[in-house]
Amino acid sequence: MDARSIILRLRDKQALTPAEIRWFANGLADGNVSDAQAGAFAMATCLNGLGDAGRVALTEAMRDSGDVMKWDLPGPVVDKHSTGGVGDCVSLILAPALAACGAYVPMISGRGLGHTGGTLDKLEAIPGVNTEVSEERFRHMVGALGCAIVSATGDMAPADKRLYAVRDVTSTVESIDLITASILSKKLAAGLETLVLDVKCGSGAFMGNPADASELARALVGTAKGAGCATLALVTDMNSPLAPAAGNALEVRECLRVLEGRREGVLLQLTAALGGALLVAAKLASDEAKGRSMIRAAIASGQAREAFAKMIAALGGPNDVSEACLPEAPVVLEVCAQETGFIATMDVRALGEIVVHLGGGRLYGGQKLDMAVGLSELGRVGDRVESGAPLAMIHAADEAAAERAAAAVRKAITVANAAVDVAPLVLETIE
Ligand code: URA
Repeated sequence: MDARSIILRLRDKQALTPAEIRWFANGLADGNVSDAQAGAFAMATCLNGLGDAGRVALTEAMRDSGDVMKWDLPGPVVDKHSTGGVGDCVSLILAPALAACGAYVPMISGRGLGHTGGTLDKLEAIPGVNTEVSEERFRHMVGALGCAIVSATGDMAPADKRLYAVRDVTSTVESIDLITASILSKKLAAGLETLVLDVKCGSGAFMGNPADASELARALVGTAKGAGCATLALVTDMNSPLAPAAGNALEVRECLRVLEGRREGVLLQLTAALGGALLVAAKLASDEAKGRSMIRAAIASGQAREAFAKMIAALGGPNDVSEACLPEAPVVLEVCAQETGFIATMDVRALGEIVVHLGGGRLYGGQKLDMAVGLSELGRVGDRVESGAPLAMIHAADEAAAERAAAAVRKAITVANAAVDVAPLVLETIE
């Protein structure tokens, strides 16, 4: 077998055998497949698909491309993963909240992908934090603190690590097969018992409409359950940014506000919904209302904040993480509404791209990020805005970048006179 012939068959819409898919995944892990070949494989998969059996084979082969962890802990081993959105920093709040509820959360996360932000990049906006830890350190953190958010160690799902970085810079993210294999290879390698997936749907998601999001959710749930992990998915709205901010340090700031009980809103609401559903599935709560209130109580009591602070210190960050330690951009520019009305539409993908072009995401592999840049004071579709009030604040490295971003923000957000219908936050639950 060789990479060229596998890519050729995929290009020509011939079904790959599980053995060919395994060969390719191993080649990604051991270097026998080049970046160019990985990019061609990703593009051919985006265009032609692998089929149900091929998707399962790729997921299992990428999981098995490295170590698969096993745990022996006095509570359920759980996790949550999002398919990717803008201003989606739920993981930073939910992992410590779940730990405070008695669960263990070995969370293997990713970096920014396309226009969406990545949990690891956000964490590394906190000075000193390094999410690349050894498997031994990861095990110790999960056992001692209840949660750890880290990058897949060199030995875990290495095939995903390579393919993920290639997809990020080759416009090959939007594929149900590749998203499923990417998310689940990491999650299954982490040895989870129970998983909740947040499948994003809307202008800021990889799946723009409910039918595609539902199909992705079903593929994820079916594949994960087939591999022995109790899994459910919530399909949630991404026609507005989830947090009022997008950008690495700006989102950490929002998370600290939620963890300190200073911010109500949709970010907290979704954190409680995902956490509540997960606590029921892990048998730590009798029903979802109870699960949601356990998550809210873990935050209100300060226990989640404490677990977050301990995790940050264990990852090399400050002992007393707070907003004061986060980097700030030198230029902050307000973009104001030109009329009074209601936010009618938000092109959330465009907002994510603005953050990438400000330097908060990658335009080429290995690009060093500017952690301080991004957007804040963002509203949501349906919000009332007054003429002259801010639609967004731009945080940029210089004036020229801020002006370019301001023009793009004006295009991405429209305001109308009449009130608009707002989609529910949770569109569907798939079990
Ligand atoms: N998150 C991942 O880890 N992989 C994807 O492909 C999308 C979201």
